[in-house]
Amino acid sequence: MRKGTWLLLLSLVGSALDAQERAQDRRRWLGAGQQVSDDPRRVPESPAPKGPDGVTVLRGGRIFDGTGAPARPGTLVLQRNKVLQVLEASSTNWPRDARVIDVTGKTVMPGLIDLHTHLSYIEPPISTDENPTDPDAALRAAERLRFFIESGITSVRDVASVGNVPFVLKRWVARNAIPGPRVFAAGQLLTARGGHGADGTLVKVDGSVIERTGPLEWRLAVRDLFARGADVIKVASHFSRDEIRAAIDEAHALGLKVTCDCETSYIQVAVEEGVDMIEHPLPRTDETIRLMAQKGVEADPTVYVYTYFFGRFGGGYFGSTSRRFAFGDSANVQVLKRMKDAGIVMGIGTDLIVDWFRSLPLPYINELKYFTQVGYTVPEALIAATRTNAKLLDMDDRLGTLEPGKLADVLVVNGRPDEQLDDLAKVDVVIRDGWVVVEGGKVVVPRHTPTPAPPNWRPKP
Ligand SMILES: [Zn+2]
Repeated sequence: MRKGTWLLLLSLVGSALDAQERAQDRRRWLGAGQQVSDDPRRVPESPAPKGPDGVTVLRGGRIFDGTGAPARPGTLVLQRNKVLQVLEASSTNWPRDARVIDVTGKTVMPGLIDLHTHLSYIEPPISTDENPTDPDAALRAAERLRFFIESGITSVRDVASVGNVPFVLKRWVARNAIPGPRVFAAGQLLTARGGHGADGTLVKVDGSVIERTGPLEWRLAVRDLFARGADVIKVASHFSRDEIRAAIDEAHALGLKVTCDCETSYIQVAVEEGVDMIEHPLPRTDETIRLMAQKGVEADPTVYVYTYFFGRFGGGYFGSTSRRFAFGDSANVQVLKRMKDAGIVMGIGTDLIVDWFRSLPLPYINELKYFTQVGYTVPEALIAATRTNAKLLDMDDRLGTLEPGKLADVLVVNGRPDEQLDDLAKVDVVIRDGWVVVEGGKVVVPRHTPTPAPPNWRPKP
């Protein structure tokens, strides 16, 4: 073999090894064509068919497919839980027995994704007989899932909830046993003793935080979360350099991304140590932003909710030992703009705590409006909410656009959200994993189909 060919082969092997070391490329470990579950851990799954029987057709609408193409008249054809085809508006090339939904005059688009939820956080006021028990947390979260799905949000990434609640919800939604968006779960967030969420001065998040000390404990905490079903690891300041390094190293070895809610200089440390994403628009230096861009660290800014915080609390979390800064509305938006100008990939998350989910879909729409304030066009903001968010979930080969083979997560809006973001509030139909979960703007739960009773249960004639 000629020397040049060897060099080419060596460089290909080298790049393949490099690629394997990146958490984002873990889907390749299983090889092309391998059936994998629709969660970012990419564990093998049964090839049994998913979603409802047959074909569902959305005809008469305009398709905003999330790829960057402008909205166009077209017909979306779904088969079981996948997108089968996007047809020209004039085509009627679908099976006779398909379920046809008339969406004339409406916009058909990929389901929205929310990268930052806390499905089970306490909702004040809490009475003494409503302690934050696990059953209570699970029911709170189940109620919240309905608000998200009715807002056209077909996937949420939950970045701290009580105990195993988010993992249980994920399984129940995946079985289509309760209405809601797909749940990608971090489980509990990981911080040091008295760190964010454990310092007692913020909203009580009992049961949603793990406090650990030293790199070995941080590494073990990541392994425990993985074993319980974590799709992503969420860490929060404060931490030592050794601790966050151990957590990131272990998560990446397991094929998980790490996202960090950290204040001030901790952001720089997290970025230096290889974190994948930073939450919130918290203060950061130009040096940190430059390093984020250079290392491809992504951002989930959650600007709207912080604007609310700063407006309400006057620019800071006074008295908090895990939020030691003052900040304001304009600086908050400036962080978003500085990150955009640096070329950092950013997604849409709401971080709705206490009872703020009850305002949905407004907070989600407001987050998109902040993106347009700093230079995104309206279609670009919608792509951040769909295609980019899918990429940040490491799910862009399955979610985020309406293309053949993608999972059937679809939002139908009675308006033109790609021209007018407020139209996103006019949710008509929501389909998750091929199942029509929302019709006419509200959750529809079909009557159960009774299974035949075993023979010995039948009364004797
Ligand atoms: Zn949060």
